[in-house]
Amino acid sequence: MDTDYESRFVGAEFSPSEDNETELTLRPKVLGDYIGQDKVKENLSVYIEAAKMRGEPLDHVLLYGPPGLGKTTLAGIIANEMGVNFRVTSGPAIEKPGDLAALLTNLSEGDVLFIDEIHRLSRQVEEVLYPAMEDNELDIIIGKGPSARSIRLDLNKFTLVGATTRAGQLSAPLRDRFGVIFRLELYTPEQLAQIVNRSAGILGIGIDPEGANEIASRSRGTPRIANRFLKRARDFAQIVGDGEITKEAASIALSKMEIDSLGLDSIDRLILTSMIRNYNGGPVGLETIAAAIGEEAVTIEDVYEPYLMQIGFLSRTPRGRCVTPAGYAHLGMKMPGQQKFDEV
Ligand code: ADP
Repeated sequence: MDTDYESRFVGAEFSPSEDNETELTLRPKVLGDYIGQDKVKENLSVYIEAAKMRGEPLDHVLLYGPPGLGKTTLAGIIANEMGVNFRVTSGPAIEKPGDLAALLTNLSEGDVLFIDEIHRLSRQVEEVLYPAMEDNELDIIIGKGPSARSIRLDLNKFTLVGATTRAGQLSAPLRDRFGVIFRLELYTPEQLAQIVNRSAGILGIGIDPEGANEIASRSRGTPRIANRFLKRARDFAQIVGDGEITKEAASIALSKMEIDSLGLDSIDRLILTSMIRNYNGGPVGLETIAAAIGEEAVTIEDVYEPYLMQIGFLSRTPRGRCVTPAGYAHLGMKMPGQQKFDEV
């Protein structure tokens, strides 16, 4: 089957989110517009500057962290700052070694190849990547059976930027071939407020500082969520107000979406309440929680847990996950120990 490689570049795969076009316009294009992640930016700007001075491509970069934190955006910025093409694909889209070979042979000197969800590459595909990353060489097998022979092709030098939700999911040989590894952190409400204001400016949405703070503090540390809430709050502001997003308009919009004051959604609350009701608040294993609420364990681990842990509602112990006293308090539920104490 001949696959349409061009559409995998930049086209359909570019953004997994709901609104491709605004997503593209909202993505910062230069490091200076990328808000937060200061340590990453500081180091990256040195590496980019140094590589440019040497006239070489940037070393391969691995970005990891929960979804929506700006990995794809940062990869695009790297390409832009280096002044090279940006090619986008993802682990699951590269099914066969030949798919990857086609991508690699199409790269021009210095290009950035971004592979999202890089932990999902198959073993055979990964093996094609190793000599490409290390020596800019591609080994391809021609023919089948006894007459099969291997030929070696020289590739243009390129920078691979890989993104994954967890670096631990990557095989050690692949991880070792990245010269630069960055972990992206959840954003503070102040940084998210800056992102919301920047996005509102680009989209021509009126928003007052309190409205921006309201959205920021309920976006669970994630720019993609903040941008989505901004668009929904605009809808409410148009219908119930004069179009400007105030604290009240933002608050109504978020409550209608069942987002609570700390940004927890119905699934976050379901995770906590089912742990409390069925397992006394833990310790309980991830798979058990997943089965109890009908979600995938990886989704809980990648999407829900990081924020619940960051705000101190969930803790990880060697025996499993536990709801913390703060988690109980937020849900207005009593801890088992407290109940006993009250009863005495
Ligand atoms: P990921 O690849 O980690 O899932 P994306 O790069 O797709 O995340 O980012 C999601 C959205 O959040 C982008 O459209 C972008 O507008 C916004 N965004 C992410 N990081 C930043 C940032 N540091 N500053 C401003 N906007 C950001």
